[in-house]
Amino acid sequence: TDSDTADEAVRATCDDATVCKRFATSKGYWRDLYIQYFARSVGERKAPEISRGYYARVKGVNNLLDAFIRKTECDCQVINLGAGLDTTFWRLKEENLLPRKYFEVDFPTVVARKIHNIKTKPPLSKPIIETHSTDSLLLDAHSLDSDRYCIIGADLRDISSLDEKLKKFQLNTELPTVFVSECVLVYMTPTHSSNLVCWASDTFHTAMFINYEQVNMSDRFGQVMIENLQHRHCTLAGVEVCQSLDSQKDRYLKTGWEHADALDMMTVYSMLPQEDVERIERLEFLDEKELLQQLLQHYSICWATKDKLNLGLVHLAF
Ligand code: SAM
Repeated sequence: TDSDTADEAVRATCDDATVCKRFATSKGYWRDLYIQYFARSVGERKAPEISRGYYARVKGVNNLLDAFIRKTECDCQVINLGAGLDTTFWRLKEENLLPRKYFEVDFPTVVARKIHNIKTKPPLSKPIIETHSTDSLLLDAHSLDSDRYCIIGADLRDISSLDEKLKKFQLNTELPTVFVSECVLVYMTPTHSSNLVCWASDTFHTAMFINYEQVNMSDRFGQVMIENLQHRHCTLAGVEVCQSLDSQKDRYLKTGWEHADALDMMTVYSMLPQEDVERIERLEFLDEKELLQQLLQHYSICWATKDKLNLGLVHLAF
């Protein structure tokens, strides 16, 4: 059906992210020793503005995620929604920042691919086995469950089944919990994404939601971005929410979150440690600075918090 084709095009987007991250890390934009196991080869060259954009995305999201984990002294959970082939679990393990449990959710077919890679590549499986204490490690084709890392196949538009599966794998609704979604909500209708963030705020009393996706999509540049995706049968069903930083924040403020903030990526880029920004800007020559600016102005990070435990989550920022 049409909707199967649309979902298949959305599933394929996780390879774009992986291929772009693999290329950027091969050039030294940031370190990721694990992405190589999810993308067969470095692949063709990517334009420098793409790599700089991914740099801002990875550093920006990590900045907020790590701040939450530190604030809770690792006594927390992470739930990565639409995680694709993301390698954050391995980075956190390496940096001694593992939460009590790290959950990932994606479509079952994407999850099956990720699990296959983990099973067949010891550098991926070793950290999972090392952080697991009993002989009960579950590793079948459709799910992985260990003490500290769990991957679940589910459709994020089906909240009751998502809730049920997470609870089956020992999700603790009393623990401070941080959600991460990168370029995921934009593929769902505003109703679906709103239901998801509403479920998150209903389920946890102390939580943060970090969302990275397109913004300012109503101008000419935004229209071209939409057309490019449509060429690949990919529809940004949630594009309405991507009209402005305010509409991004409203999604949370209307669904029980206490506080929400949003920045476009040009602003985030200017707030990252400038010494490292200068370093990456020397990696590859970029003569069209304007294109980078336009690109960064069309992506955003939005984050929302609720804080019954009074941890000071409202102060987490750049
Ligand atoms: N977050 C990852 C990253 O940044 O590398 C992957 C991003 S990729 C652009 C979008 C991911 O969201 C895909 O892996 C796709 O399968 C997943 N996704 C989109 N809609 C979904 C849904 N309704 N249920 C589960 N996963 C979904």
